[in-house]
Amino acid sequence: MTTTPYTSAIGRFAPSPTGSLHFGSVVAAVASFCMVKKLGGEWLVRIEDLDQPRVVAGATDTILCQLESLGLYWDRSIIFQSQRSERYREILDQLQKDQRLYPCDCSRKEILASAPHIGEEGPIYPGTCLRQPPQHSKPTALRLKTTTETVSFDDLIQGRYEQELAHEVGDFTLRRADGTFAYQLAAVVDDHDSGVNQVVRGRDLLSSTPRQIFLFRQLGFSIPQYAHIPLALSCNGEKISKRHHQVCFTPAVTPQTLLFQALTFLGQDVPCDLKTEKTAIIVEWASRNFVLTRIPAQDHCISTACD
Ligand code: GLU
Repeated sequence: MTTTPYTSAIGRFAPSPTGSLHFGSVVAAVASFCMVKKLGGEWLVRIEDLDQPRVVAGATDTILCQLESLGLYWDRSIIFQSQRSERYREILDQLQKDQRLYPCDCSRKEILASAPHIGEEGPIYPGTCLRQPPQHSKPTALRLKTTTETVSFDDLIQGRYEQELAHEVGDFTLRRADGTFAYQLAAVVDDHDSGVNQVVRGRDLLSSTPRQIFLFRQLGFSIPQYAHIPLALSCNGEKISKRHHQVCFTPAVTPQTLLFQALTFLGQDVPCDLKTEKTAIIVEWASRNFVLTRIPAQDHCISTACD
């Protein structure tokens, strides 16, 4: 696997504007910020707003305010995926020219009925439209042809991870029939175009990474380093998310407390006397002293977050 040689580290935080930041996303923001700052690099923020029906009005502003309140400042202009359609189209055209894509009009129901088995990522598409292209002019999705080659990579936290895409995931969608560009496409193109060479994000995206690496390779782009951080569980074992109405940013929780909880969740040994300092001091300490190897690989529970 080729990884980008570090001239300078470039990391990013890529929230979807579906609501306010929850504890898991605060942890991802803190980890991606500290890891890249420790290397003296730049931290970018990208708003993943392609799935318009899921976008909540005002959420982007809320998220940016929350990042600022934590003392996490980005180094370049914010990237909005909704403004990058032309670039995604250009990449799809290139892949189409290279015959790596094919149109697909199968419905979810048809895929479910025809899939040989259900993988970690849902039903494995059996290639129906590859063998028998759609014959009409109704809008189609575009799928990327996968191969039986095993895609493997060494995650900085989770260790070696591998997937044989053709059998474990199947040919996957890069553009939906309604014209929406898929997350896998947009994330790869944006990471490449911004020069991102360090991707730090939640472990729930670990199984997307082989698809992204495959696409990086198909496009001849260099592959970033990946670090997938553990997910925050509530103490009854569920993943903490917006669905649990976990409100971190309430007047009762100071940004200092939240930074402390996030850093503690990431296994960092934060001196207690920093608790009463300004966020800028805590963030500066964390950027200088962050130790990647202290981050536990396993998801774990936070009993005190956000209360
Ligand atoms: N937008 C995704 C999320 O909010 C993160 C995607 C990524 O970091 O690649 O979970």
